[in-house]
Amino acid sequence: MRTRPIKLERGAFPTGIDRLRLFSTLFVILSNGWQCCLLQCCRFAQLCLFLVSAVVTILPATVAQPLAKQPVALEARLEGDRSLSVLTVTLTHKVDVEIYPMQSPDRLIIDLPAVNFQIPPAFKLARTPLVKMVRYGLLGADKARIIIDLAAPALAGRITTQMVASGFARELSIEIKSVEPSMFAKKSQEAEFTRRSTMLTNDNAVEGAVAPQTSVKGKISDRRPLIMLDPGHGGPDTGAVGLNNISEKDVVMAFARDLRSLLESRGQFRVMMTRETDVFVPLDERVRMSRLNNASLFISIHADRLATATEVHGFTVYTGSEKATDAESAILADSENRADAMAGADPVAAREDISDILDDLVRRETRSHSSLFARTLLGRMEATGQVMNKNPHRSAGFRVLRAPDVPSVLLELGYLSSKTDISKLSDAAFRERMTLDIADAVQRFFASIQAQESQGVLPH
Ligand SMILES: [Zn+2]
Repeated sequence: MRTRPIKLERGAFPTGIDRLRLFSTLFVILSNGWQCCLLQCCRFAQLCLFLVSAVVTILPATVAQPLAKQPVALEARLEGDRSLSVLTVTLTHKVDVEIYPMQSPDRLIIDLPAVNFQIPPAFKLARTPLVKMVRYGLLGADKARIIIDLAAPALAGRITTQMVASGFARELSIEIKSVEPSMFAKKSQEAEFTRRSTMLTNDNAVEGAVAPQTSVKGKISDRRPLIMLDPGHGGPDTGAVGLNNISEKDVVMAFARDLRSLLESRGQFRVMMTRETDVFVPLDERVRMSRLNNASLFISIHADRLATATEVHGFTVYTGSEKATDAESAILADSENRADAMAGADPVAAREDISDILDDLVRRETRSHSSLFARTLLGRMEATGQVMNKNPHRSAGFRVLRAPDVPSVLLELGYLSSKTDISKLSDAAFRERMTLDIADAVQRFFASIQAQESQGVLPH
């Protein structure tokens, strides 16, 4: 009986299948070894070779794992008081960091190459009297950012990197030193001036921007309407944080994925997402992606938090308008529009490419289609008995709803400031009902538009 040779590449981490084959081969060798002495000798030699190759494979792989290309942030801690706090991040590699202050809200931005953040979730709760919160995430394929939200003006002090005792990781320590407000303002302005100068010399330097993930050009023959789903926030911009530390960016991403699967399964639409992973995408980039790909409908998905109105709950659909329908909507739009700033993106990087010369009729039609979708959706939800906000259709000046030629809505699935909504959003059956209502509404919306268009071409 011959056993299949196992190909073990030096340095490659053995997969589960490789390990299974390794152990099954070992078993076969041992169980068959009694057959004859000669065979036993052969088997023994094979076994020895096998064990040696296994050691050669597994050991370097284990050692080599931390040496993989992308640095991994393994843990982080925050210690200190109101005058001096220290952020320490344990990384598998030494990384170059760039740190600068930013105002309104006051924060320190730490830019670093792409990092695989594996920091335990409990770190989200880390605070000191000087630091309100530390956020982190990817800004694209090759850049990551850590944002230190400050409770009082502070600047970075000493930055050190030290090997940890095991020798396989490094601790990056950053001192955060309290300073006078005037000093913080001065350093923030200097940093902003440097960034602006760099951008002027490098026209492509749209800070924090990521390239559109895909373009529809290759699929031009597919005439099905394109639905652009926009899971809000991402990367260092966590969005709202609710009880048990659930982040809006994760809630809306899971929901958007479910909705995409459902819409795709119906076969009538193409579906794209403005982000596929936990990455920061600037607001204008989301709008640009939907226009560039000729989306027929843009659905932004959120689950925000209204700190001043914790009683507000239930599903709400927003359409864009310069004037907010109510104070809560204005506050919400204002906080959403600060998403870029929260992720540390420079406001000067926001390119205003929406002021196209577009026929006012197009804008009016877009607005009316956005409202039609909102009404269709709310009609579905009412019919299926979903819990809705007391005023479920609202309008405000959301930046992501500014495409003049793509009907756009922003859905608040619920509010992470409401206990009722948090428990609903954690319920898979509830989420499933909601995705069904949205998918039904999308179908009805396009059916209505087609009906309108076909009526328009009928001879009078
Ligand atoms: Zn949001």
